[in-house]
Amino acid sequence: MNPELDPKRALSPHGVFAARWPQFEYRPAQEEMAALVWSICQKGGYALIEAGTGTGKSLAYLYPVFYGNIEKTGISGPVIISTHTINLQQQLFEKEIPFLNETLGVPIQAALLLGRGNYLCLRKLHYFRQNPRLLEDGLHSCFTRVWTSAQRQVGSVEQLGYALPLALKEKITSEGATCLRKHCPFQQRCFWMAARKKAFAAQVVIVNHHLFFTDLAVRRQREFNDEGLVLPPYQLVIFDEAHHLAEVAAEHLGTRIDQKEINHFCHRLLHQEGKWGRGWLPSLRQRLIGAVKDLALMQRLIGIMDGGLMPGLRKLETLFNGFFLSLASHEGLAASLFQGNDIKRRFTSNLLANPDLNGQVTRLLATLDEWTGQLSRFVDGLPEEEALREDFIFLAEAGHFFTGIAANLPLLLDGRDDHFVFWLEGRPEGELAVCATLQRVPLNLGELLSRELFTQLQGGVLTSATLAVEGEFSYIKENLGLSLLPTGTCREVILPSPFNYQEHVLVIVPSDLPSLEDPNYLKAVSLLLPSIIEAAGGRSLLLFTNRQQMNQIYARISCPLKAAGIQLLRQGEEPRHHLLSKFIRSPKTVLMGMDSFWEGVDIPGPQLSNVIIMRLPFRVPTEPLFQAQWEALAKEGKDPFLHLSLPEAVIKFKQGFGRLIRTQTDRGVVVVLDQRIKTKRYGRVFLRSIPGGKLITAPQTELASLIQKWLT
Ligand code: SF4
Repeated sequence: MNPELDPKRALSPHGVFAARWPQFEYRPAQEEMAALVWSICQKGGYALIEAGTGTGKSLAYLYPVFYGNIEKTGISGPVIISTHTINLQQQLFEKEIPFLNETLGVPIQAALLLGRGNYLCLRKLHYFRQNPRLLEDGLHSCFTRVWTSAQRQVGSVEQLGYALPLALKEKITSEGATCLRKHCPFQQRCFWMAARKKAFAAQVVIVNHHLFFTDLAVRRQREFNDEGLVLPPYQLVIFDEAHHLAEVAAEHLGTRIDQKEINHFCHRLLHQEGKWGRGWLPSLRQRLIGAVKDLALMQRLIGIMDGGLMPGLRKLETLFNGFFLSLASHEGLAASLFQGNDIKRRFTSNLLANPDLNGQVTRLLATLDEWTGQLSRFVDGLPEEEALREDFIFLAEAGHFFTGIAANLPLLLDGRDDHFVFWLEGRPEGELAVCATLQRVPLNLGELLSRELFTQLQGGVLTSATLAVEGEFSYIKENLGLSLLPTGTCREVILPSPFNYQEHVLVIVPSDLPSLEDPNYLKAVSLLLPSIIEAAGGRSLLLFTNRQQMNQIYARISCPLKAAGIQLLRQGEEPRHHLLSKFIRSPKTVLMGMDSFWEGVDIPGPQLSNVIIMRLPFRVPTEPLFQAQWEALAKEGKDPFLHLSLPEAVIKFKQGFGRLIRTQTDRGVVVVLDQRIKTKRYGRVFLRSIPGGKLITAPQTELASLIQKWLT
């Protein structure tokens, strides 16, 4: 064995990278991380690794995986690498892995697996190619373009390089429920099957957290079918951007019924347009006349369609919309929804105890039962004609969809099971006025993950730039169930960033700003912001926790900034990536954003020199899962603020802070406009958790000159 290849020293000044890569920069943290990941590959167990920005963590976890595969040691089976963002997935697959293949000269087999709905379905493409009249008028030219791409072996929506209208995408992409798998005539050429096959043969499979937990949700079903699995059997997993794991896991390991999905399905089946309509049922009704030779059978099928399926579905649609509206009113959401707000409302009682809701659900379930029964009779009666095969598949899927809703609805309305958190979520939505989702999520997600994921594997690595709070991993460990593993199973390490935060970052907290509750706060902040933004020459990112505050401040500062020649961009005005590219391209620009702008904004260089954090990012206490976790902690005698609210806010704060310094030479200012960071005892936890910076408290009148001086 060549010692320079050993993962413990490959990233050292005497390792393989220093020898073969002229641009190699030695980073002790990267070397340490690679050694730890290699130890997990060899001996199993888990590692929680907080690796500061600039550590080079992807190389530090990829290299040991490569080495293990090259030397055929340490790892049994493929390694799954799961990330939160598609950007990181692409970076790993398109840059880092080819780089390693080339540098090491021994390529390993890697596969990038996207969500199933990203792949084109050849069976559907052929169907619409043969039946173009079944496509809406505006979709024909785009369909022809996709068809041509598919003939050139472009098999995923990502690779098309142009936007696909949603109405076309849902018609021509792969779906688990309607896939014919081994019975499909296109199976040999199927893009999804090929991607999955490649993943099953690969040594490294790159996925996102959503796909990972979709697969885990299938594995959790007692009688799952191997064909429904997305990932090959694995024993080692590496989660990058691991601070998102809990929220994605909760989404996939719970149960939900979404009004929008129901309406969408009804629309696909019924959609009236033109003489006969383009919905599946009206279109099929028309085609039955030519496709079914037996006159009596045709009349019987049309009878079921006209007398049952189509009117029944319209009735179902009305009943569902009425039911969700009653539910929103019952839970006191309707008024807020009509004012245009998104709302979540947790419930802990059995909503079916309400006679009105109970009556509606009884009617709904009876209508669902009747409708799915008619659908079964209809599908059973369809002759086995090639021309009707797609109809058969789609209608079977419709039956499956509505049967699932009937089974889950009573379960989702009985909020008394304290192992789960139940809530109703409402969004204002076009002419429907209200669009709601019912959710049921396991309360103790950590226990579930520990039992069904972590104890089932040989080991894993969980990494991110933001996992620890004041140097401790307790929060993430409890949240994900790693604290339930036997002592010594999970190793923890914080690897500092190589960037010089002390020299390059000035953290300013105004000493005389009113507190958040003070009625003068908004006015004071609105007067202060233009001066500190001007001092930075624009180039500022303003991070908010609440849309209302963002809009109020936007209204107050847009005029003075415009007068100073500074462009102001606000989240929601354009898609996120447009806003970001505008911000990068235009000098003297300011960007205001909420949630998604606290992370994933990677703007190296002076274009982003000033990050302004409007308030410490504590979660709203009414958020259902948060509220239930809070209560559960209090019941256990723990302080929920210290165990839940504070660490969660600190991790988000670190993400926001991390937007500023992206390279060795970046320099800038972070202004915190929330006095609590200085006046409250817990404020110190935020300051002690960030990677560094020179902290200054100064009166508002001095901030502009301090910023100007720091940046010049
Ligand atoms: S195997 Fe499934 S996804 Fe592939 S072409 Fe056939 S039906 Fe579509």
